[in-house]
Amino acid sequence: MSLRKFRQADWEEPLIFELGSEERVGFSVPSLEPELRDTVDDIVELVPNGMLRTRPPMLPEVSEIEVLRHFIHLSQMNYGVSSGLFYPLGSCTMKYSPVINEVLAGHPRLTGAHPDQDVSSVQGVLEFMHELKKGYLEVMGMDDASLQPAAGAHGEYLGILITRAYHADRGELDSRREIIIPDAAHGTNPASAMMAGFKTVEIPSDEDGGVDLAALKSIVGPQTAGLMLTNPNTLGIFDSNVAEIAEIVHGVGGLMYYDGANLNAIMGKCRPGDMGFDVVHVNLHKTFSTPHGGGGPGSGPVGVKAFLADYLPVPDVVEMEGVYSLSWDRPKTIGKIHGYHGNVGPMLRAFAYMLTLGGEGLKEASEISVLNSNYIASKLKDVRGYTLPFAEGKPRMHEAVLSALKMEEETGVRALNVSKKLLDYGLHAPTTYFPLIVPEALMIEPTETEPLEALDMFIEAMKEISDLAYTNPEEVLGAPHDTTLSKLDEARAAHPKTICLSWRTYCQLYR
Ligand SMILES: *Cc1c(COP(=O)(O)O)cnc(C)c1O
Repeated sequence: MSLRKFRQADWEEPLIFELGSEERVGFSVPSLEPELRDTVDDIVELVPNGMLRTRPPMLPEVSEIEVLRHFIHLSQMNYGVSSGLFYPLGSCTMKYSPVINEVLAGHPRLTGAHPDQDVSSVQGVLEFMHELKKGYLEVMGMDDASLQPAAGAHGEYLGILITRAYHADRGELDSRREIIIPDAAHGTNPASAMMAGFKTVEIPSDEDGGVDLAALKSIVGPQTAGLMLTNPNTLGIFDSNVAEIAEIVHGVGGLMYYDGANLNAIMGKCRPGDMGFDVVHVNLHKTFSTPHGGGGPGSGPVGVKAFLADYLPVPDVVEMEGVYSLSWDRPKTIGKIHGYHGNVGPMLRAFAYMLTLGGEGLKEASEISVLNSNYIASKLKDVRGYTLPFAEGKPRMHEAVLSALKMEEETGVRALNVSKKLLDYGLHAPTTYFPLIVPEALMIEPTETEPLEALDMFIEAMKEISDLAYTNPEEVLGAPHDTTLSKLDEARAAHPKTICLSWRTYCQLYR
């Protein structure tokens, strides 16, 4: 069996994980010097009884080149922004993370630092956190922030806890029970609001894809704690009524929460703080580089207007005469939301990203990402089987959501099949079936880091798939054909019990 190309069926025998041969070694260590023998014995004695191994670990016995080839092979089976042609994962901003950011984030001065170290020995880390926060406040138009949250959803949760603390402080928590959330929102929004103890009220989108103002007016009241909004929303549409929305919500005493998971369309162009938002989060791991496939680590800093700053988590990095320290001085803080200070790797990448691009560069990145998504949307919206629902004729922002509903009705080929077929072209699938308000959704976000040739290649592939759907639908329905694994069982592939994180899992699964 070739190691390069194997199919699911081959895995019934876990041959591929039996790469080792007895007594083959991939390392050489100098033999123990006799005078150190006693020292080693002393150390061994320190290990509590019962914690010493009684038999050697079960590891494959392999030579160095075999190990190297094994991991290179695994990496080639993986798909990433730096290996693949195009990764248009809408709402996720899979942009290229510049190598310099990776080098910095992997530098031993950062990876070797421990958060328990005395602050005098980690001045550099505290300094870039402090500077990053300044940049963040500038981009967001907010007054203060916390870098602690480790993800977008985590930031939302913190933002809603702050909202809650604010209402509690005013003695209104018992009556303000509702958080209003548009039907286009990311699923994390209602989840965060519920976890913080609120009831969620869904508000429909109007035909332009924005918040339906009449509906909003009819559901706000003294029971409203706040509204969570993504702008531009998950349809890639900018809600130009945002100032009026803020006025309505503020008018009844509610707060405006900005889900800025994805800031790629507006950074440097306009600021959530100027749109009327009181609490915001941004996913540094989307807009400000950091590869974030596979679930992290991420960073979702939360920014607030001055009147909410007292509720932010502690500690905060403060600077006095060029010396950085940690301040715990926030009597009304909601507490800590993360052990220590959050994930500093994505923070450093974001800081490097801001510095290398500069204010003008950030703005240009937004402009190009918007241009790229409109280019794709305009080329595909009239291709047979695809449509661009909502706000007909209006431009999109950083992403666009096509629908394959017509294709499904006319040929039986669904959005899922289109996505799978794209894999045969060596392209990554777009986000599929989200947002929920678009049937057969294909949510495409090219980002600013893709060249025109990549956009054209994607457009060409989407057109060919449309032709195939109408001439040879079986070909699309059976896709993918050319990947390492062909069609997976969707449920098993995503189930934590069957997801394969080590070779042992395969042995158990396919014995
Ligand atoms: C990605 C995303 C989130 C959640 O961010 P995580 O870091 O995955 O928790 C929330 N809202 C929107 C609009 C997003 O795109």
